[in-house]
Amino acid sequence: MEKILVLGTGAGLTTKCYNTCFILENDEKYLLVDTGAGAQILNQIQKANVPLNQIHDIFISHKHIDHLLGIFPLVRIICRDTLANAYEGKVNVYCAKEVKEIIEKFVLDTFHEKFFQIYQESIVFHEIEDGQKYDVIGYEIEILDMQAKDVIQYGFQTKLNNGKTFSFLGDVFCSEKNADRIKNTDWVCHEVFCMEAENELFHPHKINHSTVKDVTEKMQTLGVKNLVLWHTKDNCIEKRKELYTQEAKEYFGGNVYVPDDFDVIEL
Ligand SMILES: [Zn+2]
Repeated sequence: MEKILVLGTGAGLTTKCYNTCFILENDEKYLLVDTGAGAQILNQIQKANVPLNQIHDIFISHKHIDHLLGIFPLVRIICRDTLANAYEGKVNVYCAKEVKEIIEKFVLDTFHEKFFQIYQESIVFHEIEDGQKYDVIGYEIEILDMQAKDVIQYGFQTKLNNGKTFSFLGDVFCSEKNADRIKNTDWVCHEVFCMEAENELFHPHKINHSTVKDVTEKMQTLGVKNLVLWHTKDNCIEKRKELYTQEAKEYFGGNVYVPDDFDVIEL
């Protein structure tokens, strides 16, 4: 079964949901995409019923705290479990060179010596760049430079076993430079920060984020078929699914998913 296990759906500073991150599952093979802002990632993985010792691939889109910080408790637990023979094999971390350098420095400065050696033996970094291809959880994933303005940021796309195409676009608005590569994609995971009516309240464009209208108008012109919208503010979390879906349907003719944490989306 091919699916998205949603671990978090919030933007940077949310408390009513975890920060946006998910597991792409291909028949009990798991790719963790982003890690959220802290140790809660461990609870999220547990609650999603994914055995931590089955996660061997982690993709980190960029260095911002709400995507990166969860890597440290994760790696620490993996080192502990490796020492206790509860975790076998290596962990592949796919990220930009600058993200790798941040992780390496923090681990070197803060991890206990006994873990550091295990860390060096267990973690395999892959410094990603636009257009590179990797075999991950039975998919060939192609790296996409998101052309983000303020930070080096990557997404990826792949073809699923069911023949559908899948794109994860990080947490910035889809750049015009990537439009041709996204055209007619079956599944697109895209950030939205808030609804159009909240533009003046939250100013999403000032921080390179978007409203539901921005994203859905664009995805409609690109012929996208299924759209997952997340990385949102949490001010209207109880009604978020309903309100965001309603606005999306005004501009987008395909299927819209506005998940809550722990939703499962079959691809
Ligand atoms: Zn973010």
